[in-house]
Amino acid sequence: MGNNIIDGKKVAGILRQQVKEDVQEWVSRGNRPPKLQAILIGNDPASKTYVNAKTRACEEVGIESESVIFPDTMSIKELKEAIGKYNSDDSIDGILLQLPLPGHLHPSQVIETIDHRKDVDGFHPMNVGRLTVGQPTFRSCTPAGILELFRYYSVMTKGKRAVVVGASNIVGSPMAIMLSRENESGKATTTLCHKYTRDLTQHTIQADILVVAVGSPKLITGQMVKEGVVVIDVGINRVADSTAEKGYRLVGDCDFDSVAEKASLITPVPGGVGPMTVAMLMKNTLLAAKRSIYPQD
Ligand code: NAD
Repeated sequence: MGNNIIDGKKVAGILRQQVKEDVQEWVSRGNRPPKLQAILIGNDPASKTYVNAKTRACEEVGIESESVIFPDTMSIKELKEAIGKYNSDDSIDGILLQLPLPGHLHPSQVIETIDHRKDVDGFHPMNVGRLTVGQPTFRSCTPAGILELFRYYSVMTKGKRAVVVGASNIVGSPMAIMLSRENESGKATTTLCHKYTRDLTQHTIQADILVVAVGSPKLITGQMVKEGVVVIDVGINRVADSTAEKGYRLVGDCDFDSVAEKASLITPVPGGVGPMTVAMLMKNTLLAAKRSIYPQD
């Protein structure tokens, strides 16, 4: 790897090891192991891969997990009932609802039915609200994982100009909130861009820190960034590649070569942000288990 490449796989491994030790300590004090309940709806192969990666990681760190696959014909009422059961099951600490959902199920409606104390993805409005006003919360795993990368690579955010491209509820928006809070991992002057942003380059070119979470290969090119920028590429896009075993390969939202030439640090795809998301989910699940015994407020 070039010396400006952020090794998310390595940092996620360190984090998982820490969680593993914390879980051991938690269990050695007489507590049962934390447990994650994963919910998958339908047969989307990418979603299945993600859920498998998450349950495998659970096993590695000593967190129990169970996954259930519901048919994509499931009604909102049935899904809410199933979630209600997991909410009231004291043996479950965290509930993971794998997105995207089939078209007839609206994520916000479903997410609101998850007990916010078990919302280890940090998507529930209660947790997003708490994040926004700086109260204890479950932070969305992908942006929280990005802050861990900054910590590991000593990327200072204070006073920096941060630009986030993509404003989804799960990545871009919470990332912008975290970077703009006046706390230890924030204090950046933050701009949030989206598909309605006019002249994207006018914003990206000024970024000291650029986080891109759009889902559009090569959206960001070297010409759009300044020398020395720290680039976090969240995008995961499948592009056809006849030389690859599966007939496709994964790329991010940045034209990697031209952006990496100017970046002081950059995440690769794969091996950058993805593993951090999974590691943060482990951390949040342990936190949920601890908070179920020692609630904060
Ligand atoms: P989304 O698909 O819900 O929304 C995309 C966002 O990008 C929107 O805010 C939209 O306005 C913006 N956008 C679209 N076209 C744009 C353009 N031309 N210029 C500027 N903004 C534009 O977003 P998401 O769910 O956050 O996913 C984004 C990408 O990140 C996807 O590729 C997804 O697979 C990936 N992702 C990766 C991880 C990980 O752990 N690595 C986690 C979540 C999502």
